[in-house]
Amino acid sequence: MRIFAIAEDNGELKCPSCLWRVSRLYVIAKDEKEARKLYEEEGAGLCADCLVDMMVEEKYEIVVPEK
Ligand SMILES: [Zn+2]
Repeated sequence: MRIFAIAEDNGELKCPSCLWRVSRLYVIAKDEKEARKLYEEEGAGLCADCLVDMMVEEKYEIVVPEK
């Protein structure tokens, strides 16, 4: 799973968790296509703040990609 950024051409998106208006929402998915689908069909996506809060609370671990 990776984190994908969702942006709209016309600008603002609203985070469903904190209701802040942001330029990008983030979705955790296996690829870009699934991220879009989760966002469009299930309203998935969090702003950067909420995403990191969730990752801290859920004890997510980071895998550093090889260069
Ligand atoms: Zn938020």
